[in-house]
Amino acid sequence: MSARRPESFESRGRRAPESSGKTSAGSESPAGSRVHNSVMMRRPSLMQEPVLVLNATYEPINVTAVRRAMVLLLKGVAQAEEMHNSEVHSAAHAHRVPSVIRLLAYRHIPQQSRALSRKNILLRDRNTCQFCGAIFPSSELTLDHVVPRSRGGRSSWENLVACCYRCNNSKGDRTPEEAGLKLARRPRPFTLHTSRQLMRLIGHRDERWRKYLFY
Ligand SMILES: [Zn+2]
Repeated sequence: MSARRPESFESRGRRAPESSGKTSAGSESPAGSRVHNSVMMRRPSLMQEPVLVLNATYEPINVTAVRRAMVLLLKGVAQAEEMHNSEVHSAAHAHRVPSVIRLLAYRHIPQQSRALSRKNILLRDRNTCQFCGAIFPSSELTLDHVVPRSRGGRSSWENLVACCYRCNNSKGDRTPEEAGLKLARRPRPFTLHTSRQLMRLIGHRDERWRKYLFY
């Protein structure tokens, strides 16, 4: 589709002047609505493929699945900026599958919008045990309180890390120092910066994302 390069592109994070006044008219959040029936899910794997979501200003803000992206397109909340070569078929139509979509109304993204959850911590730590450095499926990871709860350690972004069961057992109710373990990196909140890094990581799989992410 449109390959034009937006003026706001170079101004990392700043809004383009023409859209700065608006708050999202379509109060559609990419998180919260029903899936339309009009798109058939005949190819479940394709429907789960990641799609990059851009703000109205072309700022990358999220990654969603093809299914969700197509709902946003059908509702007129977003428009496709880049397409896959593949199609999905509904009863009467073939729909080309988007790779990058852009919201038509500007959405304000709070700096700290990620909820503290097991899923998000595993995402932040990229399913990597923060003590032994090995990568595991989510089901084989637990969350470790770096400073144990029994020592007053809180459940916070800074004190929770992804941890395999083996390391979790050997650490027990001790601090990493006491257990002779070393953290791979200091745990931090999931910020926009973290999201960008993850988007870039995912984006390596899709050439069409590059111009929106690598600048
Ligand atoms: Zn481990």
